[in-house]
Amino acid sequence: MPIADHTPLLNVDHAVRRLLALANPVAGVETVPLRDAVGRVCAEDIRAPCDLPPFDASAMDGYAVCAAALEGGAGGNESMKRFRVVGESSAGHPADGEVAVGTAMRVFTGAVMPSGSDAVLLQEDAVAEAAHVSTAEAVRPGQHVRRRGNDVREGAVICPAGTRLSVYRAAWLAACGVAAVSVRRRVRVAVASTGDELVAPGVPLAAGQIYDSNRFALAGLLAGEGVRRVDLGRLPDDPAIIREALAGISGQVGRVGRVGRVGRVGQVDLIVTSGGVSVGKADFVKDALAELGEVAFWRIALKPGKPLTVGRIGATLMLGLPGNPVSAIVTCLLFVAPALDKLAGATPARPLELSARSETRLAHTRGRREYMRGVMRVQGGELLVRATGDQNSNRLSTFADANCLIVVHEQVGDVAAGDSVGVIPFGGDAVRLLGRQPD
Ligand code: AMP
Ligand code: MG
Repeated sequence: MPIADHTPLLNVDHAVRRLLALANPVAGVETVPLRDAVGRVCAEDIRAPCDLPPFDASAMDGYAVCAAALEGGAGGNESMKRFRVVGESSAGHPADGEVAVGTAMRVFTGAVMPSGSDAVLLQEDAVAEAAHVSTAEAVRPGQHVRRRGNDVREGAVICPAGTRLSVYRAAWLAACGVAAVSVRRRVRVAVASTGDELVAPGVPLAAGQIYDSNRFALAGLLAGEGVRRVDLGRLPDDPAIIREALAGISGQVGRVGRVGRVGRVGQVDLIVTSGGVSVGKADFVKDALAELGEVAFWRIALKPGKPLTVGRIGATLMLGLPGNPVSAIVTCLLFVAPALDKLAGATPARPLELSARSETRLAHTRGRREYMRGVMRVQGGELLVRATGDQNSNRLSTFADANCLIVVHEQVGDVAAGDSVGVIPFGGDAVRLLGRQPD
């Protein structure tokens, strides 16, 4: 299929939707211990095996009493109240006896509320003398008691299928006694750099060479628990080698001679390449994709990242990212991350775009959506953002101190200082590349 260079530019949101439509969730499921499940996608609904807390518990140190039985109504009496202390219940050591009218039991945080009791008189509000305790404070039924099941009821869904497990939710599952989780298998992702000019960091540069930073960046961005990454290395600008590598990894041929590892790895779910998708003389990736499978779309109304190319080779999804280092990272954040979620069986989420006031003027040409690198901060209750210098797509330094992407939408022209712009915070954990919100 010959690909014309004048293909109209595709809107970013439209492109993400088309990409997600191409990505089919992996079918395999495995059961893993909870501690290994963080970052993985739950394959089925998980229900709470018990109430949480599993019993009525004291929330404070003090004395368990029966407030409902106090004179003057439900704890409302203003007079001095005096109780005989008949026992003690501490965390992990429930009391045998029970609390009746006029008696109390010493309790500590996390202790089972003794039977007959319905409230905790705070230690600070109590005067203890010998076997008695007294207080002038009102004691209301339910005060300082954590009711059984107030966090979750037995049988309620605590993790819907399609949830990528955060450490926060996993802690809740642990609290409910969940020890193992059924998760989708890891998504197999092959990563390759293309370009005759590339060498690995650590060796001296010969004339015309540069260091391969994209493979380093992509490896880091794809380091999540739910991914099994296959490093295809650097591919030269040689159409035959690129074709062989893509064919081998997408299960189109049994063995690929020149890229020795590929034949042993087997078929992957996703191929991510960088470079070779533009319109230069050495841009062979798109042609190889077209020959082996199909180019679904390319050329996005996006800056940086216009040449992003998406397609399929057999059942393998492929994203050809542009070679410019900033473009490769931005397209990874905007496209590879949601594709991975969909492939992993996760419920799609979209970037959490906030609104901030630009501290400086930002030059922007209408028609393409631009993602700049920025530093946001709060001043006087207002979210402010500034771009990290010259935003040329070769300048990785723009990412070094950034904590967000600045979004200048396609219909917007130059942004004046003080105007509102979109900002997408970088994700706070290894699982999330960008802050995201449910669809
Ligand atoms: P390309 O998309 O292949 O035309 O590459 C665009 C620009 O990005 C060129 O200046 C390349 O040298 C550079 N480039 C391509 N791949 C990489 C890479 N893996 N690491 C760093 N720079 C790259
Ligand atoms: Mg190139």
